[in-house]
Amino acid sequence: MPDAEAPADPRRALVVMAHPDDIEFTCGGTVAQLSDDGWHVTFCLVTSGDKGTKDPMLGPADLGALREAEQEAAASELGIQRCIFLRVPDGHVEDGSEFRGRLVRVLREVRPELMITWDGYRGFNHRDHRTVGIAALDAVFPLSRNANSYAEQVATGAEPVRVNTVLLAGSNEPNYFVDVSDQLDRRIDALLRHASQVQAPNREEMSRRMQNRSRQAARVGRIPWSEGFRRLTFGGVAAPRRGDALKADAKARAQAEQADQSKSSAASDG
Ligand SMILES: [Zn+2]
Repeated sequence: MPDAEAPADPRRALVVMAHPDDIEFTCGGTVAQLSDDGWHVTFCLVTSGDKGTKDPMLGPADLGALREAEQEAAASELGIQRCIFLRVPDGHVEDGSEFRGRLVRVLREVRPELMITWDGYRGFNHRDHRTVGIAALDAVFPLSRNANSYAEQVATGAEPVRVNTVLLAGSNEPNYFVDVSDQLDRRIDALLRHASQVQAPNREEMSRRMQNRSRQAARVGRIPWSEGFRRLTFGGVAAPRRGDALKADAKARAQAEQADQSKSSAASDG
């Protein structure tokens, strides 16, 4: 979308997730598409996934370092240059003021207009996913925009920031679907970089699994090869990407227009 009219300062997105590989499993195609569209995307990994192994010989420090390297390689496959690792111990993310302050600081430094994170309200799920999703949303609204919240950050130059749009990944109630049909190969390449986690024997098997996931999203959003999100907007411009093939939104709009028309014709009839 930006291309010829792209401003010198690219649009920025921040993806906040609990573990290395969360991004690639839930929204890898979307971030690759954003990158292709000229956005500057930053990944923020709250933990380094240092408990995610069945190998008793692999301790947390070694596993964390390995998974950070895997995440960097996966990000690179998706066209993303920067990963921030907060290194909270895997499985022990606590939603407290100190943790939310760390997320606020990342938001104020990266200054994204769009944030993608876990849907922390989707029911039972990995505790870290729930906690990160809820805390990241609190960090966007209202904490990072209020100068009096974490004022010590503002005093040292981390200015308040307003994020316009949040896309909640892994949602049970997606209402926004991104067409990722151009990104299928990159999604698979990125997932395969998480070799310590992905047990698919080969590329074909991984491709088959991704197709199954896409079919689930496609049933709801009616777009083959899509990734589904719950979208929240906080004022300002809310347009994450081109064309967007937003059939679900278009359908909702058409229904709303129809309802308006029948209301106004009912009013004029009266
Ligand atoms: Zn995870």
